[in-house]
Amino acid sequence: MAASCIFCKIIKGDIPSMKIFESEKVLAFLDINPLSSGHALVIPKHHGAKLTDIPDDQLSELLPVAARIARAAGADQYNILQNNGKMAHQVVDHVHFHYIPKPNEQEGLGISWPQQ
Ligand code: 5GP
Repeated sequence: MAASCIFCKIIKGDIPSMKIFESEKVLAFLDINPLSSGHALVIPKHHGAKLTDIPDDQLSELLPVAARIARAAGADQYNILQNNGKMAHQVVDHVHFHYIPKPNEQEGLGISWPQQ
């Protein structure tokens, strides 16, 4: 846990979130500023800023959870994204996979990156 990390505070319950999955090592919750309806974040409970900071046993549980969420939502088209570092558009320094559903053709497959 990192005292100043927003996602660690969400894990602890100090900041509220819309949780959609929780296990011993993983938490998934809805993004506060969704790029599409159902945009969710899948995070390890172990704090680490980048993919390379996370132990394998935690990492290996993240993508199966993203797939479970997509399956449960009945999603056919979606993005799974994971940013590492400011130049790669990472804003929150706690590893997270984005699950971004693309519910219809009008919404397209483009990605709207957060403004820097
Ligand atoms: P990044 O650009 O770091 O890959 O994405 C960080 C994501 O975290 C953004 O999509 C942003 O909306 C989301 N986010 C930031 N703060 C909070 C928060 O307090 N609660 C939730 N649910 N999502 C957050």
